[in-house]
Amino acid sequence: ETFAEIDLGKELNANIRRCKYVKPTPVQRHAIPISLARRDLMACAQTGSGKTAAFCFPIISGIMRGGYQQRPRGVQTVFPLSLILSPTRELSMQIHEEAKKFAYQTGVKVVVVYGGAPISQQLRELERGVDILVATPGRLVDLLERARVSLQMIRYLALDEADRMLDMGFEPQIRKIVEQTDMPPRGIRQTMLFSATFPKEIQRLAADFLSNYIFLAV
Ligand code: AMP
Repeated sequence: ETFAEIDLGKELNANIRRCKYVKPTPVQRHAIPISLARRDLMACAQTGSGKTAAFCFPIISGIMRGGYQQRPRGVQTVFPLSLILSPTRELSMQIHEEAKKFAYQTGVKVVVVYGGAPISQQLRELERGVDILVATPGRLVDLLERARVSLQMIRYLALDEADRMLDMGFEPQIRKIVEQTDMPPRGIRQTMLFSATFPKEIQRLAADFLSNYIFLAV
C-alpha cells in the first residue's frame, strides 16, 4: 500500500508526494487508519519510526475536512483545534518543521511554543492564529495561566514521547493541560499517546486520557 491510496485530502496527499514519502512505515500503516476511524490510540513506537507523520496526517486531514473554522475570538486568547505535546524544545521544533511541510497550502496553521526562549515572539506568532499548537508542557501551562491559549476547542490531542515527558517530571503539567481540553460535551477530543515504552505510569496515563483505545506496538 502507498500513501496515494489513502485519501487524506488533495492538498495533504500532494504535500506527502512532495516530501517523497511513498510507502507508510509500520506505525503509519496502522496508526493512520485507526485515527481516521476516530479511535483513540496508544502506540509504542521508537524515534525514527515515522511517528511524527503518523499523528500529523490524521490531524491535518481531520482539520481540513472538519469545518471547524468557526471559533470564539477572544481579545487575546487563541483556540487551537489540535495540541501536540512533546518533551523538549528540540523535538517540538522538529515536529513544527515537519507539520508545516505537511500543512503547506492546506490553510491549517501550525505554531510552536517552548520554554527557554522569550515568550514575546511566541505570543506574536499565536496572535496571528493557530490550528495546530506544538508545545512543551511548561511553556504551555504558562500560556494557559496568562489566558493567552484556551484548550476548549481541542479536537485532536497527541502526546509524543510520553515516557520521556514523565521521566522529565512533567506529569503534573500534562494532567493540568489535558484536564483543560476535556470541556463538555465530552467525547469531542480524540487522543493519541505515543511512547517508546509502556510501563505502569504510561498505562495509567492511557487509562486516564484515552477512551476505548486501540493498542499498537510496532
Ligand atoms: P520520525 O520518527 O517521525 O522522527 O521520522 C523519522 C524520519 O523518517 C524523518 O526524517 C521523516 O521525514 C522520515 N519519514 C517518516 N515517514 C516516512 C515515509 N513514510 N517515507 C519516507 N520517509 C519517512
